[in-house]
Amino acid sequence: MAETPYDVAVIGSGPAGYTAAIRGAEYGLKVALIEKDDRLGGTCLLVGCIPTKTLLFNAELWDYLKNAPEYGIAGIGTPALDWAAVMKRKNAIVARHVKGLEFLMRKHKITIVRATAQLTGPAKDGVHTVDLLRADGQASQLTAKNLILATGSEAKLLPGLTAGDRILTNIEILSLNEPPRSLIVIGAGAVGVEFGSIFRSFGAEVTILEFLPRIMPLEDEEISKELTRTFKKRGIDVNTGARVEKVERTETGVKVSYTDANGKPQMKEGEKVLVAVGRAPRTDQVGLDKTKIGLDRGFVKVDEAMQTAEPGIFAIGDIVAGLPQLAHSGSMGGLVAMARIAGRYYRPMRRERIPACTFTEPQIGSVGLTEAQAREKGHEIKVGKFPFAGNSKATIVDSHDGFVKIVSDAKYGEILGVHIIGPQATEIIAEAVVAMDAEATVEELMFTVHAHPTLAEAMLDAYGAVEGMAINA
Ligand code: NAD
Repeated sequence: MAETPYDVAVIGSGPAGYTAAIRGAEYGLKVALIEKDDRLGGTCLLVGCIPTKTLLFNAELWDYLKNAPEYGIAGIGTPALDWAAVMKRKNAIVARHVKGLEFLMRKHKITIVRATAQLTGPAKDGVHTVDLLRADGQASQLTAKNLILATGSEAKLLPGLTAGDRILTNIEILSLNEPPRSLIVIGAGAVGVEFGSIFRSFGAEVTILEFLPRIMPLEDEEISKELTRTFKKRGIDVNTGARVEKVERTETGVKVSYTDANGKPQMKEGEKVLVAVGRAPRTDQVGLDKTKIGLDRGFVKVDEAMQTAEPGIFAIGDIVAGLPQLAHSGSMGGLVAMARIAGRYYRPMRRERIPACTFTEPQIGSVGLTEAQAREKGHEIKVGKFPFAGNSKATIVDSHDGFVKIVSDAKYGEILGVHIIGPQATEIIAEAVVAMDAEATVEELMFTVHAHPTLAEAMLDAYGAVEGMAINA
């Protein structure tokens, strides 16, 4: 048992956990970071955001290279894809960042504990005791005045399926020996559309099967429509209202039986199938039952400071009820929890101010209410929409699909939501988040100087469009 308790023990080293740990150390607290995997970084760094976006970069380069002569790049012959090199680069980037995290932990004098942690119950005299089990079977305990649970989530599979070399989750699909010739994607949330988009660029025949009436169903309806249009243009077979009945291995690949939107039975064969139907929170093996911590369908309920019903135990990241399973939501939750523990200033997170970024071609960036949600909430709204076709930088980078859509309050011009699909949408959305956080009005933003020629200028035109006064459309 540790001689003096830690001020905080963080369980889980994903973006939520490591961000919290570093901030704790910056506040001068004594921090332990407990991780069961032999590498720090969690889903985001090891099998999520970072390796996926690395592949996306390769896919983008590859797409440009296919049109090299059009861009005046001659003499490169027929470009060939060296998949082993693609994988090597991806692995090197992950390894580099794992090392970077280890360096940051040393720099901040954070103790890394390599073990699986279990809660033992409520604090005694203000000190929590955690059971630790190392991979070699050795058991011990650790004490801390506060605990932060950041145990993350894992991909759900359909009943009866196990992931392997043909039935893939986000983990297996990142380490294929070669890009599949055909890929069936079940589920058109972020995971499904991102991998569908990437592997389409690498030449796979991609079929998307989504249960709901539209792909990316949480986005504004017009975003789903535009993504569907561009995906179809790229040759991706998009099927919505598709109820998957069965997934089977065949001699050479997989066979997916489903009922289509008209209730007709259908069958699709492919080389691989990606199951991307959501992620389940890892909350069942943590010993929550020994505490007062409240759950909502497996997700941990927290207050505005990310504290659970058990005093001194906080929860952040993918396990939290009511917040999106996004790395940046998790890391901000970590900052909030640690500020609360340290007794420092913080702002509670607001669900409607958390941007969502989807790294497809074209990209999606959004924040706040969709048009339909704004109407449902009873807002009288004004909508402005500006197509990238009217933006000069979009012409330069040869990326005219998509638009910026602003949903604003009709009376006061408050921005209620911003929905972008198009080039660099995941970068441009940052402006919208800041504008909404600063409670800027449409009128003020119409007089905010945007540099020329930039993709962000499409925002200025979209604010203008709210008042029917875009310049370039
Ligand atoms: P998701 O919940 O976002 O989407 C799953 C989709 O699968 C939904 O559209 C759902 O209707 C559909 N679905 C469910 N069961 C189905 C079935 N049987 N047949 C057909 N369709 C079915 O889940 P995800 O895409 O796996 O992502 C998990 C989490 O990780 C999400 O919160 C997501 O936002 C996050 N994530 C984010 C990013 C990003 O921000 N770029 C990238 C990857 C993952």
